[in-house]
Amino acid sequence: MSRIAYVNGRYVPHRTASVHVEDRGYQFADGVYEVCEVRAGRLIDERRHIDRLERSLKELRIAMPMRRNALGVVLRETVSRNRVRDGIVYLQITRGVARRDHAFPPAGTLPNTVITAKNHDLAKLEQGAGDGIAVISVPDNRWERVDIKSVSLLPNVLAKQAAREAGAKEAWFVDAKGFVTEGASTNAWIVTRDGAVVTKPADAGILRGITRTVVLEVIAEHGLTLEERPFTMDEAYAAREAFITSATQFVTPVVQIDGRPVGNGAPGLIASALRRDYHDHAEIA
Ligand code: PLP
Repeated sequence: MSRIAYVNGRYVPHRTASVHVEDRGYQFADGVYEVCEVRAGRLIDERRHIDRLERSLKELRIAMPMRRNALGVVLRETVSRNRVRDGIVYLQITRGVARRDHAFPPAGTLPNTVITAKNHDLAKLEQGAGDGIAVISVPDNRWERVDIKSVSLLPNVLAKQAAREAGAKEAWFVDAKGFVTEGASTNAWIVTRDGAVVTKPADAGILRGITRTVVLEVIAEHGLTLEERPFTMDEAYAAREAFITSATQFVTPVVQIDGRPVGNGAPGLIASALRRDYHDHAEIA
């Protein structure tokens, strides 16, 4: 079955789907994106993802290209035309096409909207989580507005590649003060020897992950101790457990950091329980 992409009001074959070379996303990374999980054909946490999309667009002063309801219809149609059962739907909105000039293009320039969807290999993801993953640490050399889900991801690309080359799945950014901020495409968490779950507050320096928000609810429901505060790499090395969260990886245990085993080197009980219960708390539309 051939894949279909939505591009500015049209459903077109994925292999020929394109935007103009002067799209500002291509020229300046002047755009935002969202990734929403699809599970059993349904969108997971659509409301929160669209809320975050609206916020990202507002911060960059890009107009929402269509109303929320219409966007919901297009997301579903793209999922359905690609026969996605378990996978993701990807949405990207840029400031549009204009003659290259750093400053904003003339008023009336229309944003470009692209939506794609694909299945992922749920069995492979489950196996990865069952084994646990390795992460490495890298300096956080990103700009300050990482709270905006912008397509400007070059430091994340380089960090992820460094992880791959080190035989790891994810890279954790460490800021100038020695605190872990987040992963290249995930939020970062540890569980201390005392059993407290620790993650950096989302007020600055990280993307407020939708999965993170839902996992905070699961933690509260389980009556676990939560410490929303920055943590250092030394704390991470000494942690009982560690894990990452994202819409594509849900809750995935981390079993190795910079080559050192986390806890006893196997996925932790808390991370595994949060993974098991996460979807019970997510909104399914
Ligand atoms: N942090 C970064 C830098 C990300 O790119 C992502 C997801 O792409 C996340 C965190 C996790 O966010 P979410 O749970 O909304 O997928």
